[in-house]
Amino acid sequence: MGQDNKIPKVTAKRLPLYYRYFEKLHLMGKQRVSSAQLSKELLIDPATIRRDFSYLGELGKKGYGYNVSYLLHFLRDFLKQDEVTNVIIIGVGNLGTALLHYNFYKSRNTKIVAAFDTDPNKINKEMDGIPVYGMDSLEEVIKLFRVEVAILTVPVQVAQKITDEAIKAGVRGILNFTPSVLTVPSHVQVHNIDLTTELQTLVYFLKNYNDDNE
Ligand code: ATP
Repeated sequence: MGQDNKIPKVTAKRLPLYYRYFEKLHLMGKQRVSSAQLSKELLIDPATIRRDFSYLGELGKKGYGYNVSYLLHFLRDFLKQDEVTNVIIIGVGNLGTALLHYNFYKSRNTKIVAAFDTDPNKINKEMDGIPVYGMDSLEEVIKLFRVEVAILTVPVQVAQKITDEAIKAGVRGILNFTPSVLTVPSHVQVHNIDLTTELQTLVYFLKNYNDDNE
């Protein structure tokens, strides 16, 4: 976008506020809003609002107000709200620990914000700067950080129960490292990564399929 540097910090700080408000207006089906209305709702004087928006370009028209969906998309891009998806890891055993260390550094649009376990020796500590909580904090943390994805590295027998809890709290995507076949509602996506099966399948294919007898 290239404009980031020009925006005063005081304006930049207000942008998430505007963003959230436009999100609300959009959900309510409102198509436009005046700076006077914005001012009333957000308790920011209209001159400041007009000035803030002038840094973002010609977004409002005199006598028309601001176009809600246009501004919502504009601010979303501007704030890169879509960019970072918060992720948690449930089960800090061998695999969970490895994934915590890995922390998916190559992917800039995901962030592991917390990990969970039941083992008293593992919880209430940090691992690689990431807090490990007991399962009783699961719902609270998911809601607080708007966590969308849970990585599941727990024993197979508890996988479904934990999945249900995570989904109830707001998770929409599960990266399932357990061999469990999870049942989830239609709005939730599950990706299964069963490393043991993958390895066995590879070995089986090596033994049974090759160029000659394909
Ligand atoms: P891995 O399967 O990753 O190699 P592991 O063999 O060290 O791990 P598992 O028994 O598979 O250990 O458990 C993985 C992790 O899940 C452990 O840290 C364990 O404490 C944790 N765990 C077990 N039950 C639960 C549960 N109900 N909720 C959350 N975490 C759990």
